[in-house]
Amino acid sequence: MINALEQYDPQICELIRQEAARQSGSIRLIPSENYVSKAVMLASGSCLTNKYAEGYPGRRYYEGQQVTDLIERTAQERAKKLFKADHANVQPYSGSVANLAAYAALIDPGETIMGMSLSHGGHLTHGWKVSLTSKFYNSVPYPVNPNTGMLDFDKIEELAMKHRPKIIISGATAYPREIDFEIFGQIAKKVDAYMVSDIAHIAGLVVAGIHKSPVPYADVVSTTTHKTLRGPRGGMLLCKEEHAKKVDKAVFPGLQGGPHVHTMTAIAVAMAEADTTEFVAYAKQIVENAKALAEKLLEYGFDLVTGGTDNHLILIDLRSKKIPGKKLAKALDRARIVTNYNTIPGDPAPPMNPNGLRIGTPAITTRGFKQGQAKQIADFIKTVAENIDNESIIEQVGKEVLLLCSQFPVPEHFIIPNKNNK
Ligand SMILES: *Cc1c(COP(=O)(O)O)cnc(C)c1O
Repeated sequence: MINALEQYDPQICELIRQEAARQSGSIRLIPSENYVSKAVMLASGSCLTNKYAEGYPGRRYYEGQQVTDLIERTAQERAKKLFKADHANVQPYSGSVANLAAYAALIDPGETIMGMSLSHGGHLTHGWKVSLTSKFYNSVPYPVNPNTGMLDFDKIEELAMKHRPKIIISGATAYPREIDFEIFGQIAKKVDAYMVSDIAHIAGLVVAGIHKSPVPYADVVSTTTHKTLRGPRGGMLLCKEEHAKKVDKAVFPGLQGGPHVHTMTAIAVAMAEADTTEFVAYAKQIVENAKALAEKLLEYGFDLVTGGTDNHLILIDLRSKKIPGKKLAKALDRARIVTNYNTIPGDPAPPMNPNGLRIGTPAITTRGFKQGQAKQIADFIKTVAENIDNESIIEQVGKEVLLLCSQFPVPEHFIIPNKNNK
């Protein structure tokens, strides 16, 4: 399909080629990124992009919904089965919108929400000060334990008792350990708050049964569909039957207009893919790879927040190495290893130049990397960190990365023949 684009828009076609080459010729360690299957790619690039479908199956505002109703119902049913949830809404455009819809479904503007502080691993939309969620709602962020980097349930309960939030948000974007949603649920009950669990990062681990699901404890579960879940870019809400109407209303007409039907189509495909033994094996391997990478980094003297990982993600505390996160991320990028710099809990440095580096294994695992390659990545990171100002060594690492990448081709539809290939 991309090659056909050459004929119509050679300029954009060339840019897509360049991006495909970048994605295939580098090691993608950004924990929120992945490579979707050919089936997901085809569904999201299909004619369903042409259809408006405001409303819900059987209750639309436009005609011509003979097929879209079936597609959305299929996506809903597959999501409900996969997550063992009473109700699924597959319309949110993204995880951010899904979160706002979850809050809007449960509470009124001005009421109090309590989510993990962004600088400690929470997401912007959990009420961080620059997010509109902190303007619409009164936000009381909770920290992690500054010494261990771990969730501190005593502290969370203390804050909850003091501030009496209407919603407690459990879930994170940069937390390397399993989250105990049951305890979170107990605290929420104690203060008569709703619990919204945001599993955007770990949804793939949850459906594979590697991490415990929040579905039994949370009033609403929010997720993206494109991270470990390996679907198209989108969001999704799961909830108990009692909240179903409110959740649907909050998404449409509360926040959105027409849903992206092509995305819902691809979500349906991804939900079926995630409901397989292959996917369970994939999710297990994600964690095995993260553990192998973490172990090797520790051996090389890197400090890891919480001392390791239970999931797909590792947060390196670079203070002892005396290298700013941004400088290392940029050097690694020149060596074809793509990461993101990140704050560490209690980071004294500003968010644009923090002391942490966040890495993760979902994308490399899709590519077929196992523990051996994960350890090799630790070697690359060590070499770049130790030679941060030596461009010829960084270039040499880049060549080795390219060689490794060539042995683990990305999903086949990614390889786009390029007449200019060097
Ligand atoms: C990625 C993420 C989101 C936001 O998802 P977008 O699709 O980027 O809007 C929300 N919550 C958490 C925990 C995330 O990691």
